[in-house]
Amino acid sequence: MEEIEIIKPDDWHVHFRDNEILKAVVPETTRHFARSIVMPNLTPPIVSSKQATEYKKRIQKAIPTTDEFDPLMTLYLTEKTNKNELKSAFKNGDIFAVKLYPAGATTNSDSGVKDIKKIMPVLEVMTEIGIPLLIHGEVTDKEVDIFDREKVFIDQKLDFICKELPELRITLEHITTKEATLYVSEGNENLAASITPHHLALNRNSIFVGGIKPHNYCLPILKREIHRKALLKVATTDNVKFFLGTDTAPHLLNDKESACGCAGVFNSTYCLSILAQLFDNENALPQLENFISKNGAKHYHLEVNKEKITLIKSSQNLTFKKYLNVNDQKIKIFEPDFPVFWKVAE
Ligand SMILES: [Zn+2]
Repeated sequence: MEEIEIIKPDDWHVHFRDNEILKAVVPETTRHFARSIVMPNLTPPIVSSKQATEYKKRIQKAIPTTDEFDPLMTLYLTEKTNKNELKSAFKNGDIFAVKLYPAGATTNSDSGVKDIKKIMPVLEVMTEIGIPLLIHGEVTDKEVDIFDREKVFIDQKLDFICKELPELRITLEHITTKEATLYVSEGNENLAASITPHHLALNRNSIFVGGIKPHNYCLPILKREIHRKALLKVATTDNVKFFLGTDTAPHLLNDKESACGCAGVFNSTYCLSILAQLFDNENALPQLENFISKNGAKHYHLEVNKEKITLIKSSQNLTFKKYLNVNDQKIKIFEPDFPVFWKVAE
């Protein structure tokens, strides 16, 4: 039996939602992760420090008493965000980062930003006082093909922000393309990127081949194999600019298996097993700790966690639980299309 001990990981991008779904999904993250950056795209979105503080309390109530976990809260950036309120929310520790959604890019992003120029004064304040900017990097123009939206965002929007404000700490979140890996690698030390387990595990065939697979539909959408390979390469080599952000995004079964299904993959339950297997398949297990436990903390100027976890490779592949129950409804748990032998020691 093979086993490895690593620093306890963090998940730098989670969707906990609210109410009954929140209660069901929070323990799936807190079981293995020490900290998470929590996304603010509720309905209505988290746009004030008061909302963020109340949301944090609801999350904390859902953490099992056996788990130690620190939720790091974000504010949803709009064209109306007040820079002075933002400043005091950050200084009070009510928020950790600010999230930029281009209007209409994904689930509950209608209040997002249409014109980047309108938010530049807020971004300047964030640069001054060191608030990280987290970006959903896709344009939303109808004319742009869904598979090209990340690349076009980088060329048209991100490059502008990086050039105007080179000192702003930026995370290009859940990157999906070779172009993103190159842009971030070549950028200055303030630019980093997070990568999800499903974008490392699957290419776009997993949505379409053999019938439509709504549970593999997410935004940014899965891309071609060359892009998956590029993501895997930066995650498994010792590039400190890339780290885990699962983008775990629960939706009830009916909202996924629908004529107009929601975007999002709920992946927290077996995330570490799947990543250990992916890294093992690439002969890159020694890099796993950097990707899931060190690089993100470095980018966010935080200490790495003190606790450790152990991963064990079993002789037989694991059988995954298919669903998480939310009262009498269900959420589909992500599973990849390859055998997984690794699990977290309890
Ligand atoms: Zn997300």
